[in-house]
Amino acid sequence: MENGADKSGQDKSRLDSNDDFLNQEKSHPKWDTRPPRSKGSQSEPRAESEPETPDVVPTPPQKPAELEPEPPETAPQPPEKPEPGGEEKMLPDPRSAEMPADQMPAEETACRDRLKALGVEFEEHKAEHDAQIGCSIPYPIILKTLGKSIGISPGAELNCPMAEAAAHFMHDVVQAAAKAELGADLKSVNQASAFVCRPRNGTRKLSEHAFGNALDIASFTLSDSRNVEVGPAPPEKDAKFLDTVRKAACGPFKTVLGPGADPDHALHLHLDLEPRRHGGTFCQ
Ligand SMILES: [Zn+2]
Repeated sequence: MENGADKSGQDKSRLDSNDDFLNQEKSHPKWDTRPPRSKGSQSEPRAESEPETPDVVPTPPQKPAELEPEPPETAPQPPEKPEPGGEEKMLPDPRSAEMPADQMPAEETACRDRLKALGVEFEEHKAEHDAQIGCSIPYPIILKTLGKSIGISPGAELNCPMAEAAAHFMHDVVQAAAKAELGADLKSVNQASAFVCRPRNGTRKLSEHAFGNALDIASFTLSDSRNVEVGPAPPEKDAKFLDTVRKAACGPFKTVLGPGADPDHALHLHLDLEPRRHGGTFCQ
């Protein structure tokens, strides 16, 4: 509220500049079949680049190695040593190769059917693909609303599962929290970024935004026209509402970051569906 003046639209790039850089230690998608660290680590700086967040506690020995021998989460290494000439090259992500098929897969059409059943309005969007950077969404949609009575502004380009998770969350959780904590209905969600083709700031790993798999929320507008802004020091009642929402987001979303997590998330809530080993979450 206090510093709301500089928060809207034009400031997106800053709001968005460094999403999830804290959490990348935990991102070892199950389908990431590369043998962990089998070759010279020069080509795989991913795990070493972010010392801030040790993965699930340094692997306890009793943990059965189910899928692959997990390398011990070694002691944090010095952050990011840029390799000569290799700085701009993104680390590979299997999702980068995803291209639209001639016919939309059944799971995508089923997802759209569920959105319609929720009263969500959306439009199809052309596939996004940037071979250079590695971002890709084969079947993006533009969310126009999050349900029969919940708007989103501006429209958000997302993959369908993320759109569906967002719609459910607003309907099931945020709406109830707004009523309980603030005595009003949730009217609209003001998003700061959805699909953006970029890496995580300061890293060579692609952001979940690059797959339309993340949504940044700057504020919530209520039915009485109040605007509840995500920020470091919200008014007390707003704080309770925001806290409830943030805690409840952990689970439905696999990554939840916001004010206090790091300076780059001081003014928005980052939610994503990043696939993680063992279905884990990272919420901070
Ligand atoms: Zn984000």
